[in-house]
Amino acid sequence: MKPPVLQHATSSTTPSLITPISREMQNEVIQLTHHYIDLAVSTLGLRLEKIPIRFDIKGKCSGMYRSNTRGKVIRYNPYIFAKYYEDNLRNTVPHEVAHYVAHSAAGKKRIKPHGKEWQSIMHHFGCKPTVTSNYDLSGIPIKRQQTFLYHCRCNQHLLTITRHKKIIQQKTEYFCRKCKAKLTRDQNAPE
Ligand SMILES: [Zn+2]
Ligand SMILES: [Zn+2]
Repeated sequence: MKPPVLQHATSSTTPSLITPISREMQNEVIQLTHHYIDLAVSTLGLRLEKIPIRFDIKGKCSGMYRSNTRGKVIRYNPYIFAKYYEDNLRNTVPHEVAHYVAHSAAGKKRIKPHGKEWQSIMHHFGCKPTVTSNYDLSGIPIKRQQTFLYHCRCNQHLLTITRHKKIIQQKTEYFCRKCKAKLTRDQNAPE
């Protein structure tokens, strides 16, 4: 008897999109972020709260620090992290924490984003204060492109709108190559 033909989420005629980092890796990134925050607290004598860390940016940025009336937040790009994990741990994480530290230390004083305050914190962290990266971003979803976040039992999967529509119209189902589970829609997924 022939086994049923299963469609795999990762097989595609178009260049396949990068799968965002797993929850396990997200936790590693969160721990490292807290490590740098703690380092700034203990060595610079600053009072810094633990701020939210999110993995919800798309596009060309690996990370960003934002402070506004809604509060402070560090956001990371889970796709660029997936493609260049080690490099982002080494550079993006201290880079964003240094923004948070510099901004908090400056108080009401206005400072340049990558000015001497930020640079000195990067040096303090033992990191090179470089601003640009030369990542090849193929496979990284851009902001305009509409993609849909699904998950199986082991990971998250990013589907194109074409595939998402096929699922909605019940024309096909997609299964994870690794855990064999059917892909289901993430309820609170950013789009
Ligand atoms: Zn920056
Ligand atoms: Zn899976």
